[in-house]
Amino acid sequence: MGGFVSTCPGLEDGAIADNILLVGDAARIIDPITGGGICHACRTGMYAGKVLTECAKTGDYSKKALQPYEKMWRDRMEDKLYRNWFAKERLATLDDDTINQLMKLISTADIKNVTVYNLLKAIKEKFPKVVEGFEDLI
Ligand SMILES: Cc1cc2nc3c(=O)[nH]c(=O)nc-3n(C[C@H](O)[C@H](O)[C@H](O)COP(=O)(O)OP(=O)(O)OC[C@H]3O[C@@H](n4cnc5c(N)ncnc54)[C@H](O)[C@@H]3O)c2cc1C
Repeated sequence: MGGFVSTCPGLEDGAIADNILLVGDAARIIDPITGGGICHACRTGMYAGKVLTECAKTGDYSKKALQPYEKMWRDRMEDKLYRNWFAKERLATLDDDTINQLMKLISTADIKNVTVYNLLKAIKEKFPKVVEGFEDLI
């Protein structure tokens, strides 16, 4: 038994087209650094339900009619998913010495709630170069 987790950014053209609406993994709405996708699948499913209920009233499932779904998930999740994708890409390029320094920082920093955001915030303070290019998302 096995499974795959997408570590790519979201679909360029979005998660909708005429008569098509993708949720969760199918739309690559999954955290590229943690591999967490259950809450994203549930949330996009909820958004889809809301929008499709409206579409069912008119029978219009065009890309235009599905647009509110695209806005809902992007407003809530897009920045975070992009930030974590940038972080994952950067992590893959770091040398052992820098990774050791980051581990030391994380183990000694006073981080009460361990989230990707809080870890990146601590890293940004001490090692701004590591988050260069996506610092605005932290
Ligand atoms: C090994 C592993 C560990 C993971 N651990 C975590 C974790 O700890 N926390 C977390 O948040 N996320 C985790 N994930 C990610 C999480 O499982 C997914 O992001 C989430 O299940 C996505 O939900 P989904 O509904 O989009 O897709 P899925 O859960 O993949 O559901 C899609 C369903 O569609 C069915 N299907 C496919 N094709 C067809 C077809 N043609 N006709 C009918 N049915 C079809 C499939 O059988 C499946 O039941 C993990 C993933 C893997 C692989």
